[in-house]
Amino acid sequence: MPRRRPGALRAERGTYDGRRPPAWAWELPPVDRLSPDATAAAHWARPGRGAEIADLLNRYRTFLSGPGSPLLLVPSECPACPGCARDDVAVVRDDLGDLYRELPPVARTALGRVLRGLDAQFRRRTLPHPVPSAGGWVDWSGRPRAWWHRRLYEGD
Ligand SMILES: [Zn+2]
Repeated sequence: MPRRRPGALRAERGTYDGRRPPAWAWELPPVDRLSPDATAAAHWARPGRGAEIADLLNRYRTFLSGPGSPLLLVPSECPACPGCARDDVAVVRDDLGDLYRELPPVARTALGRVLRGLDAQFRRRTLPHPVPSAGGWVDWSGRPRAWWHRRLYEGD
């Protein structure tokens, strides 16, 4: 019997600690372009998780499919409330990063692959902020913000 690559074997199992997601997790809707394994693992990670990732990826893709070149980021008019904060695609990308870190390995790998592709498009289609210090290098807690915040916004 041919030896399987360890990566292939891991991906095939699609689990947390060698356990397979329960049946219900396989019946929930697809998460963006994630494989069935990765989708089931994402749904299983926490209730509502899969749908949230699908919604965030949809927002990210919608921004990237917008007209115009370069694409300008749009600040949220209501950045303090969690729903409206996501009107800003940089916040969408933050939230995807947070969810990514919580996912079981198979789903994390799959989401990471999707994010790398979308991030490359984002870098290509947006511009670095010419005066980054004006755009907020740090968040409310004083932590430096990720590179996707330091791009050119509408009205900059
Ligand atoms: Zn609001």
